[in-house]
Amino acid sequence: MSTQFPTGAPEGRVWLITGASSGFGLILAEAALAAGDTVVAAARRTGTLNALAAEHPGRLVPLALDVTDTARAEEAVGGVVDRFGRIDVLVNNAGRGLVGAVEEASDTELRELMDLHFFGPAALLRAALPHMRSRKSGAVVQMSSMGGRLAFPGVGAYCATKFALEGLTEALAAEVAPFGIKVLIVEPGSFRTSFAGGGALRSTTPLPAYEDIVGPVRVGLPASDGHQPGDPVKAVAAILAALDAPQTPLRLVLGNDAVEFIRAHADAVRAEADVWESVSRGTDFDA
Ligand code: NDP
Repeated sequence: MSTQFPTGAPEGRVWLITGASSGFGLILAEAALAAGDTVVAAARRTGTLNALAAEHPGRLVPLALDVTDTARAEEAVGGVVDRFGRIDVLVNNAGRGLVGAVEEASDTELRELMDLHFFGPAALLRAALPHMRSRKSGAVVQMSSMGGRLAFPGVGAYCATKFALEGLTEALAAEVAPFGIKVLIVEPGSFRTSFAGGGALRSTTPLPAYEDIVGPVRVGLPASDGHQPGDPVKAVAAILAALDAPQTPLRLVLGNDAVEFIRAHADAVRAEADVWESVSRGTDFDA
């Protein structure tokens, strides 16, 4: 590993945060530092973290990591544990958007997004959990989305990867609770990070047939950059409060937009299940 870890016992909690070069990841790193903790900030562009590392010598350690390179997960986690003795909080945050109709998304585009939002986090979990289990403590934060609870036209691929992450994580939470490990799924709505701008957002090759339904998303999502209602600094404060709560929730919804969409979706799912309940119940073998 190219990272030079400082010597000396870590101060406060030890965090490993992916995608720490911007947005939620960077703000979370800054908040953890302000709380007196130690942060291993994993990023593809570690140069963006040099100034922060210089400000907090020994407490902010940049780590070069592309989370889709799952073969490096053990080495990355092992390096942190060798040096600091533990990981108290693993934050699977790295991510990006993909706009396009489901029919437009290629196999490669789907697989690349699953690598980033599902297989990468899963590999880091497999590497970190044995250490957390042996210490009987630790926390995992999974940056999902309101799109991890409901899917919108034009972002089906993105939502599918976040659904996958949430399914894995809901089971994980129950599996590791007996080991004293907290698991928190974060579901932000639209927040003012570099997500919609900054060149990270990708788009499929458009099919004219979907112009009416996907076209507005293709234009609207990048145009929302800088105008999103969600304040990521407040989001990070809410994440820290949820992590520190005696009863950490499994899911933390962030933003008024996310609250409205998730409530309406839950009501619609419930109402549809009620309408079809007798059909659903009628499919067991006759006793
Ligand atoms: P940003 O674009 O500001 O940050 C995304 C981060 O992920 C960047 O640091 C980026 O690094 C990193 N990243 C992307 N691909 C990789 C990779 N292969 N390996 C390592 N790092 C990578 O957006 P956000 O802060 O908003 O995004 C963080 C998380 O929040 C994502 O999972 C996103 O899906 C989720 N989210 C965001 C919402 C929003 O409205 N902002 C809404 C719902 C969820 P690099 O600079 O190298 O590309």
